[in-house]
Amino acid sequence: MDLSVIIPVYNEAANVLVLYQRLLQAIQPIGIRYELLFVNDGSTDQSLAIIKELAARDITVRYIDFTRNFGQQIAISAGLDKAMGQAIAILDGDLQDPPELIPELYARYQQGHPVVYARRRTRVGESATKLATARLFYRLLTRITHVSIPVDAGDFRIINRKVTDTLKQMPERQKFIRGQISWIGFPQTFLEYDRPERNQGRSGYSYSKMIRLALDGITSYSNLPLKMATVSGFVVSGIAFLVMLYTLYSRFISRDYVPGWSSLMMSILFLGGVQLIAIGIIGEYISRLSENVRNRPLYIINETNIPEESG
Ligand code: UDP
Ligand code: MG
Repeated sequence: MDLSVIIPVYNEAANVLVLYQRLLQAIQPIGIRYELLFVNDGSTDQSLAIIKELAARDITVRYIDFTRNFGQQIAISAGLDKAMGQAIAILDGDLQDPPELIPELYARYQQGHPVVYARRRTRVGESATKLATARLFYRLLTRITHVSIPVDAGDFRIINRKVTDTLKQMPERQKFIRGQISWIGFPQTFLEYDRPERNQGRSGYSYSKMIRLALDGITSYSNLPLKMATVSGFVVSGIAFLVMLYTLYSRFISRDYVPGWSSLMMSILFLGGVQLIAIGIIGEYISRLSENVRNRPLYIINETNIPEESG
């Protein structure tokens, strides 16, 4: 098997057929052995039925059906676990990652690049908030992490077998695939493309899912927020110490103290706020820690047409 294409699918019934046809048109001319691996991430629409219909007619179509919605990153991870190709392509099921780019990505892979990702030159049809938050997130991430995670790139890419096998050995539950790939450290190269609008349907990424992904990315690759909590603790304590000196001075030496209701309220509220933020940051890390300690399976498969021993 030369190429496995992993496609996470969450309520993409209106896109699966078009995607399949465009994938065939793009990949068949390369003349390689390939598989199309659809991971149905708990869709509530007809996505699975359509995929199974394709699988019944075309042996290159394989699928994994999750018992519920586990999230895109976990769906990709399941695909990586089962993929049999020497090269593995990852792309969204909504045609925002154009299949027509695969031959070019594959050609680069064949030149010996372990990771070829597709970078978004422009993005159309997405809300201003989404663009702004995405932009901010990518920039923040590169600033505060030690690994250099490519800016303005999603998971659309081709990786080789070695990268895939290494990824499969990474046990953490907070999957942030593009971060993991950068952490592993093989050289990466990229192509640029103009990211189109989603073909049909609605985005499966709610704001809560986006925030979760962002926090997973940050907490998995940076301890800076924890350090910031500590530093702000020191700064606030320093200020508190100065205020204390001043209080003692006015109480015992200048003796011109007044009932300081407003300053009291301000310092209590400020300190309370800082403490809650710090506890919240610690909480984000601890919740991820405990998730990893529980050691539950990453995903549960309902059904699949992939034989047990493969992958
Ligand atoms: N997706 C998924 N599980 C989810 C949400 C999304 O597998 O919980 C898939 C979705 O079907 C698509 C890809 O992940 O193939 C990207 O999602 P989407 O297009 O909804 O995100 P956006 O492009 O709006 O960020
Ligand atoms: Mg999309």
